[in-house]
Amino acid sequence: ALTIGIVGLPNVGKSTLFNALTRNQVLAANYPFATIEPNLGIVALPDPRLQTLADLFGSERIVPATVSFVDIAGIVRGASEGEGLGNKFLANIREADAICQVVRAFADDDVVHVTGRVDPADDIETVNTELILADLQTLERAIPRLEKEVRGKKTDAAVLAAAQAANAVLEEGVTVFAARERLAKQGVDATALRDLQLLTAKPFIFVFNTDDAGLADVDMQARMRALVAPADAIFLDAKFESELVELDPDDAAEMLADSGQSEPGLDQLARVGFHTLGLQTYLTAGPKEARAWTIKQGWTAPQAAGVIHTDFERGFIKAEVISFADLVEAGSIAAARSAGKARIEGKDYVMADGDVVEFRFNV
Ligand code: GDP
Repeated sequence: ALTIGIVGLPNVGKSTLFNALTRNQVLAANYPFATIEPNLGIVALPDPRLQTLADLFGSERIVPATVSFVDIAGIVRGASEGEGLGNKFLANIREADAICQVVRAFADDDVVHVTGRVDPADDIETVNTELILADLQTLERAIPRLEKEVRGKKTDAAVLAAAQAANAVLEEGVTVFAARERLAKQGVDATALRDLQLLTAKPFIFVFNTDDAGLADVDMQARMRALVAPADAIFLDAKFESELVELDPDDAAEMLADSGQSEPGLDQLARVGFHTLGLQTYLTAGPKEARAWTIKQGWTAPQAAGVIHTDFERGFIKAEVISFADLVEAGSIAAARSAGKARIEGKDYVMADGDVVEFRFNV
């Protein structure tokens, strides 16, 4: 499964956030074979549509999609030089599919800040610099090798061009992800870029760990959003989130309402993380379960069927698709059919978010 690596300077609240995420882990009942790894947090993708479907179909249980977070400890200034945990740290990031950078934006004199003062922009630069230096090292080795391979016609020239373009961006102190539009406009081959496995080419999410004052400070939030764009920014209070997950649902809802927030920060993080990974869901419903299935954005109906069972992809005949909104409005599959809202889709159909699907297949 695709994973999101949580990184950040020491003492910014990574463990607090990660513990809240793992406390929120999808109940083992739904995933009895999942091994619980200490640095892996598998959380449910919040989706209120599943409860609606379960009510409509009298489903016995709800199975949400999940998002996986990995706690990657150990970034400090000098990590790219392999100091201390540096090498292991970089190897762990390389395995993640997206990077969630936690940034301290809370004031608390009792919690020491590594550089002595709370400055989110400065912290982001410190972390990004380590990642950028690591990528520059990767390219320093890769470019001469690629030049040779291109001369020997073993590698496409587009790969070398992508490496050189990425190198130019990194030398400016910009991550490949932040420069992705510019690189695309230059005609840099996205696949070639991906093959270079650069850390900063992964999608980024920024979590600003803040307090009540910060959650209310829309100016600060706008500044931070602009700073990290095109990455998404989430503002939450990790300490508050860790308390929220300890409560039963009613008490949690009350505490959330008192705080003036419309949803838990962890829910936002799960949703943004899921989309940042390029994932989407489709839905199935019946008396046994109402379920969200994870697919990549852009997948076709047979690929989506293959997530349920590989035989479904091989034997795919067609899919009966009703949009969630149409199904709820009609009240049942039969009513949706007679209202002409059930579409029969073939093997080229590209799945849309919120499709409620039943597959027909040969086995
Ligand atoms: P890590 O080193 O990034 O994993 O940071 P920790 O999660 O261990 O947090 C470092 C310290 O900051 C701990 O004492 C936490 O209790 C505290 N802390 C974490 N998040 C918050 C927060 O949102 N507000 C306040 N005031 N303290 C926090």
